Amino acid sequence: MSKKNELIQSVKGTRDLLPGETPLWQRVEEEARRVFEAYNFREIRTPILEQTALFARSVGSDTDIVTKEMYTFEDRDSESLTLRPEATASVVRAYIEHGLYNEGGVHKLYYFGPMFRRERPQKGRYRQFYQIGAEVLGSDHPTIDTEVLEMLVLLLERLGLKEFKLLLNSVGCPKCRPEYLKKLRHALDAVKTKLCTDCQRRAQTNPLRVLDCKVEADQPVIEKLPYILDHLCSECRQHFECVTGELDERGVAYEIVPRLVRGLDYYTRTTFEITSGLLGAQNAMLGGGRYDGLSEMLGGPPAPGFGFAIGQDRLVLTVEESAALKMKAPLAVYVAWMGEAAREPAVRLACQLRREGISTEISFQQMKLKKSLGIANKLQARHTIIIGEEEVASGHYQLKDMETGEQRAVDAVQLVAAIKEKLGETFQSGRAPSSQAK
Ligand code: AMP
Repeated sequence: MSKKNELIQSVKGTRDLLPGETPLWQRVEEEARRVFEAYNFREIRTPILEQTALFARSVGSDTDIVTKEMYTFEDRDSESLTLRPEATASVVRAYIEHGLYNEGGVHKLYYFGPMFRRERPQKGRYRQFYQIGAEVLGSDHPTIDTEVLEMLVLLLERLGLKEFKLLLNSVGCPKCRPEYLKKLRHALDAVKTKLCTDCQRRAQTNPLRVLDCKVEADQPVIEKLPYILDHLCSECRQHFECVTGELDERGVAYEIVPRLVRGLDYYTRTTFEITSGLLGAQNAMLGGGRYDGLSEMLGGPPAPGFGFAIGQDRLVLTVEESAALKMKAPLAVYVAWMGEAAREPAVRLACQLRREGISTEISFQQMKLKKSLGIANKLQARHTIIIGEEEVASGHYQLKDMETGEQRAVDAVQLVAAIKEKLGETFQSGRAPSSQAK
């Protein structure tokens, strides 16, 4: 319990996104929406709170997420609830619960929002983090995998990113995986004493996850283990070859990484990650794959699926690191007024500008011109409109370009049009940062 008057701080692993940071977050979200909608995806919003069983059943009861990272609590009526650690399970639950499958065809859905995992916080790893994700439900066609990967690469390019790598693998299906797991278990039996204690446990409970181990000393042993890519059934092999073949056709570069298994149990066939060299230790910017049996696992009809989740915190970090987006001045217009007679026309003008969607600031009280210009500079206003008693009398206000310093008198009636023209199309909505990726 905190003592009275003691400063209350944010919860460890959570953070505030301050106004200096949010324009970049908004920009990333806007671009994601634009690209997803160009591929005919539609938004879905699901609750942050779900029944604990949803994740235990889908993500997997032996995964790190379920065993140690979930924020789970008993509600007042003893129901076990969990703050969602990811959203694919929720999207599939909603798809089943609302009978979307009855509409037939393929459902293409996207979402934004916070996720919660009790991990050890560090740069790029938080306990409340944000994901931008998309799911395609209702078909197991390999072209879906390819199209979604193409869409992701387009999004990253639109955000001006160049230094990223698409890593690809297949983890097989319930037909070929058991046979492979037998081989893997057998191989592990011979070497597991040389592995870390986590891997010794995984060798028993979830041997595939051993391949995902990051402990340096384990690597020489892991490199000699059998990989599932060499043990796929003919259907899975064909699926994988179709995906890689179509990626080649579309000019999407990728690297096949047979060790890539990912941390969630529901994946089948294609799995992938996109990493960025700009991220340091936590270099996975996004990940995803196919999950053909997930709907059945959650009590639904067969509904093959493919999807991904982008770590928005990491995406924003990468965009910042690469300085790929230039943000424009945050404010379009500052209205400086002097003398009581100027107050009303100034207030009316500010209101008119704001109604046009042009970001505008105006002082509450009158002040000297020099002080007003100082404030306009501090706010990084693109333009200042100066209205004194003389300007009111003449019906012509002064319009000052704060970048060039150029100043001219403009007929008050023409002023909004003049500002709009000066701001140009890209700045119509005032505060919107530049959409020009380099
Ligand atoms: P996953 O849902 O585990 O497949 O993760 C997908 C993406 O979410 C990762 O590639 C990360 O970019 C991001 N992510 C996962 N966990 C965290 C975390 N604790 N903090 C920040 N980003 C995360």
